[in-house]
Amino acid sequence: MGETMNDVLHATQVVIEQALKRLGYGEDMIELLKEPIRLLTVRIPVKMDNGTTKVFTGYRSQHNDAVGPTKGGVRFHPGVTEKEVKALSIWMSLKCGIADLPYGGGKGGIVCDPRKMSFGELERLSRGYVRAISQLVGPTKDIPAPDVMTNSQIMAWMMDEYSRIREFDSPGFITGKPIVLGGSKGRETATARGVVIMIHEALRLKGIPIENARVVIQGFGNAGSYLAKFMHEAGARVIGISDVNGALYNKDGLDIPHLLDRRDSFGNVTNLFSNTITNAELLELECDVLVPAAIENQITEQNASRVKASIVVEAANGPTTLEATRILTEKGVLLIPDVLASAGGVIVSYFEWVQNNQGYYWGEEEIDEKLKLMMIRGFENVYDIHLTRKVDMRLAAYMTGVRKLAEAVRFRGWV
Ligand code: GLU
Repeated sequence: MGETMNDVLHATQVVIEQALKRLGYGEDMIELLKEPIRLLTVRIPVKMDNGTTKVFTGYRSQHNDAVGPTKGGVRFHPGVTEKEVKALSIWMSLKCGIADLPYGGGKGGIVCDPRKMSFGELERLSRGYVRAISQLVGPTKDIPAPDVMTNSQIMAWMMDEYSRIREFDSPGFITGKPIVLGGSKGRETATARGVVIMIHEALRLKGIPIENARVVIQGFGNAGSYLAKFMHEAGARVIGISDVNGALYNKDGLDIPHLLDRRDSFGNVTNLFSNTITNAELLELECDVLVPAAIENQITEQNASRVKASIVVEAANGPTTLEATRILTEKGVLLIPDVLASAGGVIVSYFEWVQNNQGYYWGEEEIDEKLKLMMIRGFENVYDIHLTRKVDMRLAAYMTGVRKLAEAVRFRGWV
């Protein structure tokens, strides 16, 4: 995050342009889709526990609403920038396109450090953000959700604030809520479940059995920790994990249940151990599957040639730069890009919104089954374009993701 975000937006625009050109669209479509149609910047005054008022900056970016209302999470992080939120909203359009959801992409962010804020301060900040963006969002306009360092409690406060403003109960305003407030079964584990499905597909293509497949996971937050759990349960050997402070490695497999027990609510666990390695070393470990599940720009032209995994599955948004994508592809690494691999979260968010709208709730099995079908269909579509159009997996994913959006724009007569 931070300064490097300039590159993330630019990199996204480069691939959007390539994808639209390959699909036969001209400059007018590229001009429209390379930037969000709407971006709101807000200043949120919050009474802090020590009696002072602190003013926070927040954003909500709506990439395009030709397909339907915009959809995407809100992140709380000190490194949030306008450009990052814009890029993230474009990625959400692509995710929704690949998964064939009736949404465009949106994304929000607040520049703050929730690790240094009290429960009360976080509640006031969350409610203040909703008051500031309330005109622009809603169940048929733009539907927020959790992202980096936001969770179901924060979604609950935001939903409550929105319902008070509108004066009617509006569970469909936001997804990722606690189950008792209209949250969906399976939402909390959805991103990791989706990544597991992608890992199975990739291992099958590479002819590697899941039992004893060596897996390295960067990040131990919502996606990374559940992923470690599910891979461990599936019989894979999770040999490396990391958090912001460092990484743990054991070539015979880490004791994942023990690490899950000891992690704090932000995913920190390595501080409890002395024999750690660095995040940089983690990415270069000898393994079969590498899953970056933390933040942007982790695999770059500096370290890509030293990545030893034969499969890289991007659970985070934007962890691999374009130059690194080229290096990995040339090495024969099977790369499952973020906009495909991490779509599980927004897919189950869609199920949550559908359940809220109809007021009828589904069981966990039904959700798992539908999630699996949608993830596999997305994978098959992207892989098919990769083979038939002879493009790398990232460009194939962008082409799959932007196709429906561009068609919707055309039908509406915007371009
Ligand atoms: N923040 C998640 C993502 O980046 C989920 C978004 C959602 O559920 O709307 O995909």
